[in-house]
Amino acid sequence: MTEKYLAQPDLDFIAQVRGLGGETLKKCYQCATCSVACPIAPEDSPFPRKEMIAASWGLKDKLICSGDIWLCHECGDCSDLCPRGAAPGDVLSAIRSVAITEYARPKALANAVTDPKKLPFLLGIPAIWFAILAFITMTAGETMTKIFEFIPFFDWAQHEGEHVIAQADFFSTWFVDLTFVPTATAVAIIFFLSLKNFLNDIHENAVLEGKTDKTTLNYKEFFQALIRVIPTILRHDKFNECESNKDRATPHMMVLFSFIGLFIVTAIFFIVLYVFQTPGPYSQLNPVKWLANISGVALVIGSGLMIKNRLDKKEEQLTYYKDWFILGVVFALGLTGMLTEMTRLAHLEYISYFFYYLHLIAIFNLFAFLPFSKMAHLVYRLTAMTYAEYSNRK
Ligand code: SF4
Ligand code: SF4
Repeated sequence: MTEKYLAQPDLDFIAQVRGLGGETLKKCYQCATCSVACPIAPEDSPFPRKEMIAASWGLKDKLICSGDIWLCHECGDCSDLCPRGAAPGDVLSAIRSVAITEYARPKALANAVTDPKKLPFLLGIPAIWFAILAFITMTAGETMTKIFEFIPFFDWAQHEGEHVIAQADFFSTWFVDLTFVPTATAVAIIFFLSLKNFLNDIHENAVLEGKTDKTTLNYKEFFQALIRVIPTILRHDKFNECESNKDRATPHMMVLFSFIGLFIVTAIFFIVLYVFQTPGPYSQLNPVKWLANISGVALVIGSGLMIKNRLDKKEEQLTYYKDWFILGVVFALGLTGMLTEMTRLAHLEYISYFFYYLHLIAIFNLFAFLPFSKMAHLVYRLTAMTYAEYSNRK
C-alpha cells in the first residue's frame, strides 16, 4: 500500500523562496520537462521537478535537508525549456539561499546578508573598525611598541631609516591579524557546526527516501568519496555538461583558482612573518609574490566576467541582491588588492593606504559573512556532491 504523507505547508517558507528569486514557483504545472532537460540530474529521482512540487507545497523541511538542491549548478537549461516560465533553476537557487540561512548561526547575521537594507551596516561596521585601527597605528605606534615590548618581534615602526611604503605603517599588521584570526576561527566553527547538521540531515533524508542503503554514515568512506570528488570540482566537469550558461565555467574556474592561490600566498606570508619574523613588503621577484599577482589579476578578470555575464543575460537569468552582494564583494576584493599594490609600486603612499583600507573592508565582508552569503555554496555543494558519490547516486 502506498505510504500516506501528511503535507504541512510552511507559508513563510514559500514567501521566503519567492522573495529570494523564486517568485515564479507557483507557475509550475508539473510537466517534468525540467527534470528531463537537466543534464546532471541523476536518473533515479531526478531534480528539479520534485523540488518544484515540494516548494509550491511549502515543504521546507523536506527541501532544506535535501542534498539534491546542491547538485544543481544553476546552469539555467531547465529554465530555458520550461513551457510555463516557472524558472526552476532560479527557484532552486532561492531554496539554497534559505538552506544557508537555516543552517548558519547566528540567524540574525544570516538574515542581514540577504537584506539590502542591512548593507550599510555590513559595510559600515568594518569601515569604522579599520578607521580606528589606522588612527591608533598612526598616532600611538611608539606607545604601543613600549607597552608590548615583552613580545620579541613586536614593532610598529618596521621601516625606520629607509622610506618604503608599507601598509603595516598605516594599519598595524598586529591589529589586522588580531581582527582576522578570530574572525577566521569563528567562521570555521560556524561552518563545522552547520555542515555537521547538514550532513546528518541529508543522510537521514536519503535513507528515508530510499536513495541509499547505507543506514549508518561511514566517515572513512565519506572522506574517500571526498578525495574522488575534488578533481571533478577543480575541472568544473558539471559546469561543462550544461548548455545555456556554459560560458560561466571559465570565469568561475578563474575565481576558484585565484582564491586557492591567494589562500596559499596568505598562509606562506603568515608563516614568514610570525615564524621567520620577516615583515613585508616582499620583493616582486619573489615567486610567492608572482602567485599573489597572478591570482589577483585572475580574480578581477574572473569576477568581472561573471558580472558581465549576469548583465548580458538580464532577461533570461534574473540576478538578485544575494548574487550582486557576493559578486560585488569578490570583484571589490580583487580590484582594491591590485590597486593597493600598483599605487604602492608607483609611490603614491596615501592613495595606496586608502585602497588598502577599502581592501580590508572587502576582505572582512567576504570572510566574516562567508557562512551566510552565497559563497557558502562552496562547502555545501562540496558536501552534497561528496555525499552523492559516497551513496553511489549516479
Ligand atoms: S518547472 Fe516548468 S518544466 Fe519543470 S515541471 Fe514545472 S512547468 Fe514543467
Ligand atoms: S539549473 Fe541546470 S543543473 Fe540546475 S536543475 Fe536546472 S538544468 Fe539542472
